[in-house]
Amino acid sequence: MSKRVAIAGAGIGGLCSALALAKRGFKVSVFEQAAEIKEVGAGLQLSPNAMQVLNALDISALLQSKAFCPQQAVMRHYQHGKPYFSVPLGKTCEQRYGATYWHIHRADLQQALYQACSDNKVDIQLDSQILTYQQSVEQVSLQLANQQAFECDILIGADGIHSKVQATLLANLSLTSTAKFTGQVAWRGTVKTKDLPPNLVEPNANLWVGPGKHFVCYYLRGGEEINFVAVEERSDWKQESWSQQGDVTQLRDLFKDWHPQVQEILAAAKQCFIWALFDRDPLSTWVDGNVALLGDACHPMLPFLAQGAAMAIEDAYVLAAMLNKHSESQTALKHYQDARLPRTAQIQFNARQNARLYHMKTSLERAKLGILAGLSTSGLSD
Ligand code: FAD
Repeated sequence: MSKRVAIAGAGIGGLCSALALAKRGFKVSVFEQAAEIKEVGAGLQLSPNAMQVLNALDISALLQSKAFCPQQAVMRHYQHGKPYFSVPLGKTCEQRYGATYWHIHRADLQQALYQACSDNKVDIQLDSQILTYQQSVEQVSLQLANQQAFECDILIGADGIHSKVQATLLANLSLTSTAKFTGQVAWRGTVKTKDLPPNLVEPNANLWVGPGKHFVCYYLRGGEEINFVAVEERSDWKQESWSQQGDVTQLRDLFKDWHPQVQEILAAAKQCFIWALFDRDPLSTWVDGNVALLGDACHPMLPFLAQGAAMAIEDAYVLAAMLNKHSESQTALKHYQDARLPRTAQIQFNARQNARLYHMKTSLERAKLGILAGLSTSGLSD
């Protein structure tokens, strides 16, 4: 008889895991606290490591028309715009890694995964927040906020940075983990390409870096929209939310002495969201018996390497492969953790390093860190 797997959270990691497991014959139920899967979030960068998984799960073909394939990643000086370095993407990624590099709206990816899960008989229950779990040798019992209960063989906590599954798991193991405010806040939004002068934005992953701030922008949805993220250092902040409205006028003011392209994009923005960037140290374990964590629930990371979604997608594939390979679930979950924890911990660390690189006060400081990071430094100047 196939094992029953419950997944907390229908985000990118939860839905990817559900699909990967369903394709390998597991009986999967996903519990999502939101009452509907609606358009939240903005752009995600999907590097070839993530794209290889989406290709294997037959998702990329569904998303082709909604994606944008950047030619290169370019880091520029915040005022005169001279490039510090560039990294080829597009065809180079295909030749080197056998998969492309995409920019995609989070909502488009989530919707495609949701549809594919439904097509593969995954049971998705909305308005179903998981509060906690208990387990015996045979099964895991879920307690839901809507008073329902559910029994399964394996529980995967893919319920994001505020994971309730993580809270129970750590309490059971007498461990703790605290989120630390990094002193940085990110503003994000999208603008319609037609609201900007033609060809203003190059078809790249564009990054401008300056003292205490940086600005990223790139095309989404076949080039119809431009996603932007503006990061500033700030000492005070309390909330950790993806949907808090920001004040566009305040944002424009923060970047008023930046490159004209940055200013034109912000001038066209009608609204924006703001969220504080929190960081956590890697956990020592992700597994409690027949329960395991995945994605932001176990390795939230700063967005400065664009690997948050990619790591959740990789987790999903490895989890399904391990559960398929080892008939004993606890052994499979341990192998999953051992395969994933060192890699994600390294990427959490590297993302922190990039935070320092992006906000170095002088280009000489940035050059030094760039050399350490193995980046090409041709074209460096103030
Ligand atoms: P998440 O994407 O956070 O998904 C977790 C899911 O679990 C959510 O659907 C949440 O509603 C659900 N959930 C939480 N608690 C419970 C519970 N107790 N029971 C049941 N369900 C629960 N990254 C970007 O780079 N750009 C963006 O614009 C962006 N926007 C985002 C918008 C939102 C609303 C969220 C939640 C995340 C966003 N992210 C964004 C983060 C990015 O999607 C994640 O870092 C990455 O995809 C890892 O995904 P995850 O599945 O681990 O977690």
